Parts: sequence; C-alpha cells; structure tokens
Amino acid sequence: MSETKRLFHRAGEPAELLIAGAHVLDPRTGLDEPHDILIKNGHIAELGGPGSLEAPQDGETVDAEGMHAFPGFVDPHVHLRTPGQEYKENLETGTAAAAAGGFCAVIAMPNTDPVVDDASVLRALTDAASRQASVPVGFLAAVTRNLKGDELTEMAKLRDAGALGFTDDGKPVVNAGTLRKALQYQRLCGGVVALHEEDPALSGDGAMHEGAVSARLGIAGIPTLSESTMVARDAALAGYEDARVHFQHLSCVESVEALEQAKAKGIRVSAEVCPHHLTLTDDMVRTLDSRFKMNPPLRAARDRSALVAALRSGLIDCVATDHAPHAIHEKEVPFEEAPMGTTGLETAFAALFTELVLPGDLDLEIVVERMSAGAALYGLPVPKIEPGCPANLCLVDLDARFDVGADGYFSRSENCCFHGRMLQGKVRLTLAAGTVAFRERMRAHAPAVS
Ligand SMILES: [Zn+2]
Ligand SMILES: [Zn+2]
Repeated sequence: MSETKRLFHRAGEPAELLIAGAHVLDPRTGLDEPHDILIKNGHIAELGGPGSLEAPQDGETVDAEGMHAFPGFVDPHVHLRTPGQEYKENLETGTAAAAAGGFCAVIAMPNTDPVVDDASVLRALTDAASRQASVPVGFLAAVTRNLKGDELTEMAKLRDAGALGFTDDGKPVVNAGTLRKALQYQRLCGGVVALHEEDPALSGDGAMHEGAVSARLGIAGIPTLSESTMVARDAALAGYEDARVHFQHLSCVESVEALEQAKAKGIRVSAEVCPHHLTLTDDMVRTLDSRFKMNPPLRAARDRSALVAALRSGLIDCVATDHAPHAIHEKEVPFEEAPMGTTGLETAFAALFTELVLPGDLDLEIVVERMSAGAALYGLPVPKIEPGCPANLCLVDLDARFDVGADGYFSRSENCCFHGRMLQGKVRLTLAAGTVAFRERMRAHAPAVS
C-alpha cells in the first residue's frame, strides 16, 4: 500500500477556478512572483503571468491580487479526539479548523477513547474520515496496547489497515526494551515511529517549565532534562537498530543538541516544533491562564531562540501544531488541575508570520517550506504549486490582521494559547486534494446582482 493511500477524506467536487494575480511563493520550485494559477478538474493545469490566463468554462475567477499563494500546509501532529471525545473535536470540526489554517493534510494521533491500537478501531476511523474529513487525514496507531507501555500492538496488521506510522503520543514509551522491539517490527512493516519524549520520573507532577517562573509561582516544574535525556536515549536506540524515528514537539535547547548529535552520526531521525514553543515562553504562565498549559510546557527564552535557530537551519525539519482541543469546563479550573494542550491549527501560520517573520527572525520562505515539510517525513508527497500537481494550496492575505478568537473558531474547542492576540496573515482560501476545503468571504467575480 502506498503512503498516499493512507490518507482519508470525503470525496469533493474537483475545483475549477482561476486564481488571478496571486504572488506565488513555492520554496521548492523556486517560484516567487505574481502568477495566475489555472485549476481544472482539481489539478493545477497551468501557471502564467498575471492577466495571461482565462477562467475555465463554468469556473470562476478568484481575484488574488495582493495575496500570496503557498503550497498547502501539512500538519504531522494533531489530536482530532475521535473516537470517544467528540465533545472536544471531531473529524469534521478538526479538518474544518485545519482547512481554515491553510492545511491540506493532517496526521492524527491515536490517544483517543478507545485508543487506536487495533485494526478494527482504525478501520472504523478511516471509514468515518472518508465520509467526514474535508482535508485528507492520516492516522498514527499506538505503539503499545492502550498506551500502557508494555505490550506492543499488532503493528503489521495496523499498517495493513492503513496506519501511516506509530506513536504513543501523550505518553512516552518509557521502557527502552519495548521501544527497541517496536523498532525491530518497524523493519518488517514500515511506517515512522514518532516519539513524545518525556521521562515521567523527571516530569513528576510538574505543570509547567522548571525554572525561575515556576519557582516564583510555586508550581511544580518539568525540567528540560525530562525531554532531552529521552531524545538522546531513543536516538541511540534508533541508531543501533537502524530504525527511522521522528521526535515530536521538541521544546528545549538540550533536545536540539541531542538531535544535532544524532543527525551528525547519520541516524535516521527527524523532528518537529510547535508554533507556541517558537513564539512564547514560560513568562506567559504568570497569567495562570490554563491556555498556556501544554506538554511539553512553554520553556525559557534560551530554549525558544534555540528552536527558532534549529528550524531556520533545517536541523528541526518541520512545524507541527500538536493541536490539542479541550472543552471549556475542562480548562476553566485552577492552572495545576487543567489538562495540558492548546489548539493551533487556525493560528499556526499567522503566529509564525507575526512573531517571527515580521520581526525578521525567520524568512517567509523558510516558514512556508517548514509548514509542509512534515509530509515528506511520513513518505507523503509534498504539495507543490506546479502544473500537473493536484491542487493543494492556500491563499493568504499577509496584510490582514485579526483578533484571534473574536469571530469564534472552526475547532469545537477554544483553548488556543493565542486567543485575544492580534495576528497578521489571514488564510482566505484552501484547496486540499483538488477541492475547495475552506473559503472566506472574499472578492470574487460573480455574476452582478442587480
Ligand atoms: Zn505529545
Ligand atoms: Zn500531541
């Protein structure tokens, strides 16, 4: 089974439209200038200078002058809370949030209720996604039964049922022997093993980053050591077994160093980083707003700048949101009792553009490239704005500012750490797998209404 077949979404109407005069920026093809993009039957049919192409028959023209067209973003780490916790999110709302954020594909984590640790659970989920998901979704299955860390799942059967890879995300695989066995099975069945790195003995009952702020607030802290020692251990395991592992949501400078050493040795590792870790620090926790409580926690300024530098250099391969919806009643409790997690699909690009591109810390083309690089890590085709490719792209107004959450969210939950912040860079249109997955009200050449 090819990896592309491990993406599931509902069949939509193939797009027929002309995107006129958008500034096309595709770092992989080197395109960085205004173009018309002609989309026929859901595919990019032609690119031409502004004003050179005509709308397809029965198609419409989207006036995109002043807007940017980027390859669609791909998020390798989201929690869609289905099955079992649909009051937080479901396949429809989660993929609507993804589309609104410019994503043309997402990869969902298996820590649902029940856990995706069995082929029948996975099949039910892929069936549901084939009916409900507005953007393609890939599913990771659990490494261990019920995420308990001891008994391995039937990885080969899960791969046959469509699993894109494996993770116990939400939890680490604490037992090195168990992970080693999983990496040996990976050799037989393929698929990336993705790792949430944390040593529970070091995290204890910590609720935020261990540092000056946690000491001041009197809140138990999670040391960076909890993550970085596990990154180093698992890189060693991957090297020994010649396995392919992916480190999820790296948060600190010591993990970046461990990653660098592993890559220097030629070990097959990759890593992701989240917009919140790239833009916020533990200083935000002074507000005691539980929107700033996530795992791994917001770290110190030195960690944040190391993550930005690692993303810039490509040492960290891609951006992932770790979109983790929780209901209001769950989050509106004292900080220490609140569940960990922030939503992020609808704000990822704007947060990075506003907080890192505009101040000059990261180039726009780097952000655009890293926002879809997660696809390749899982063996999926990376979206390109190139004739012949399926239409996977987003149209973004880089001048538009918006107050996060003021108009609500497409997600079913609103625990967004950027809530109430003015961000710049608004997604206006998203095409995913050749269909219009999201469209904001915008200027369009429609028949005049008299
Ligand atoms: Zn995690
Ligand atoms: Zn996660």
